[in-house]
Amino acid sequence: MGGQIDEMLAYFDFDAFFFDMPFWPHTCYCEHCRALYRDRYGHDMPQEPVPHTEEYTELTQFKYETMADFVHFVTCRVKACRPDMPVEHNFANSIAGNASLACGEGVAAQCDYVGGDLYGNLYNHSFACKYFMVASRHQPFEQMFSRCKHALASHTLTKTPDEMKTAMAITMARRW
Ligand SMILES: [Zn+2]
Repeated sequence: MGGQIDEMLAYFDFDAFFFDMPFWPHTCYCEHCRALYRDRYGHDMPQEPVPHTEEYTELTQFKYETMADFVHFVTCRVKACRPDMPVEHNFANSIAGNASLACGEGVAAQCDYVGGDLYGNLYNHSFACKYFMVASRHQPFEQMFSRCKHALASHTLTKTPDEMKTAMAITMARRW
């Protein structure tokens, strides 16, 4: 990953970096994650722990911490070459995802500004803008939404022009 960032910076110029999908789609039980978990907690990673139990909370904490560590590594790698380069990690799953995805404030801390792609209704959209505004270290935050109605999976259905304008107006109303 670090080598890929270095290569992009060596060959191309950018206005900013956007890193997509900083979340755990599932719990990784590779040898590295298991070794790290054992180092931190002194025992093996729990296999499919029951929600609301101590071991579930511990595993969730591990996922939040390691995701924050990962995006910290990525941001630092960019800033080592280009300290002035804005870096953003997709923060959408802080609001659209659940705790098992582990996209939290540790991700926001590594963003010059937060943003993300969200596909809820206008009320969801309004709340997301408020959250992004307070979570972002710098303004303006970024807000993405698709023209698809209601989400990317329904790509043959397009929002009306009024729905698109309303979504944009909500975003602008929540920006500094
Ligand atoms: Zn792993």
